[in-house]
Amino acid sequence: MSEDLIRASQGTPWSEWQKSAHLARAPWITPGQLCPPGRRLVLVAPHPDDEILMAGGLLSQFRGREQDLVLISATDGEGSHPGSDQWSERRLRHQRPLESQHALQQLDLNLRELDWRRLNLKDGALPRDEPFLVNHLSQLLQPGDLLMCPWRHDGHCDHEAVGRACAQAAQARGADLAEVPIWAWHWAAIDDARVPWQRARRLQLDDSSLARKRQAIATHTSQLEADAGRAPVLSAQFLECLLQPFELLFL
Ligand SMILES: [Zn+2]
Repeated sequence: MSEDLIRASQGTPWSEWQKSAHLARAPWITPGQLCPPGRRLVLVAPHPDDEILMAGGLLSQFRGREQDLVLISATDGEGSHPGSDQWSERRLRHQRPLESQHALQQLDLNLRELDWRRLNLKDGALPRDEPFLVNHLSQLLQPGDLLMCPWRHDGHCDHEAVGRACAQAAQARGADLAEVPIWAWHWAAIDDARVPWQRARRLQLDDSSLARKRQAIATHTSQLEADAGRAPVLSAQFLECLLQPFELLFL
């Protein structure tokens, strides 16, 4: 599924997801159970904003323990507005990492303490760089780490490439893997058999984590504004699914 096809489809709103028996059956897990102090979280974001969409609430729990967190930004997200006059690739390459930086500040993370790696890979071409990603992650990972990435069937070529690379590297290094659906919230149906419901867990977010996540999402203005008649990349309907008091993971 291409990004344009994802955007063109009408999407599944939260009012539908609320009726999902699969979602209602997903067991709850707390951030402390998933990432107790001392356990390292390595999070791979294909584009600037994916880290917040995937795990903004969880990341806010790393305030004061930034040494347990490694954030890898694979691309600078320059491909989000193809053909746009307002948002050229050059402008996006500058703007979107800044939006990520501001978002992490909204989560109250101390960026000087954070191991944040920007790989500057080409947006839209991550399948080509999959062997590089596997190699990079294999050198970084330690047994016992939690590696978090988009679900390998999320419906966007970059998300899927990162998901596959992470699955391979986690297995090779004895790290645990948490895959996170992002675009699947939009395209999947509430009883979709393609979704690995038996692996689904709901990571519980408290009010302050959810509030910080909301503020962090708001910094991604390039993705939230309409552009010359085109709808925003991140619609209000889509964001409502990601601003619930939980983050959905496949463990
Ligand atoms: Zn993305």
